[in-house]
Amino acid sequence: MNLKDKIRIIPDFPEKGIRFKDITTLLKDGEAFRYTIDKLAEEIGNKEFDLIVGPESRGFIIGTPLAYATKKGFVPVRKPGKLPSETIKYEYELEYGSDALEMHKDAIKPGQKVIITDDLLATGGTLLSTVKLIEQLGGEVVGILCLIELTYLNGRELLKGYDVKSLIKYE
Ligand code: 5GP
Repeated sequence: MNLKDKIRIIPDFPEKGIRFKDITTLLKDGEAFRYTIDKLAEEIGNKEFDLIVGPESRGFIIGTPLAYATKKGFVPVRKPGKLPSETIKYEYELEYGSDALEMHKDAIKPGQKVIITDDLLATGGTLLSTVKLIEQLGGEVVGILCLIELTYLNGRELLKGYDVKSLIKYE
């Protein structure tokens, strides 16, 4: 199946000049969605790991069925103020100002092996922040899996040293 055909490009969203990769067209296609999750599970192969972590919000859509398929637990990473128990925070710089992500303090035990997943790797900032949260808790990131990679933004470079895989690439 050609998954690229299932993704819709929206010009000038959310800002002029950005060609947004809309995955909702893939998600509503039951066969394509299932194929996507199966392919991501195949990429994991027989690598040993304990948990899947996904950043808000499309990381939840990809991460939770992948956790189900691999019989592992899922840990959400969220924007500040959303998680109810004690959290740790990682702040990162944006073009203007900064943003932050949070994770529950007890979400990961030291030494646990973690696979991170999200829908799309662009600059890598979101995934690197997720890595930092996991490592702050003593977790080990053993893989990063994305549905889409925008190779021209070099997110892979920011995530150097980690095993990054993606199913679809835009060059
Ligand atoms: P990064 O932090 O790598 O620059 O941006 C990746 C994050 O932004 C991901 O969490 C992803 O959901 C979101 N994102 C950025 N551009 C797009 C896009 O074109 N399509 C989708 N679906 N998500 C995007």
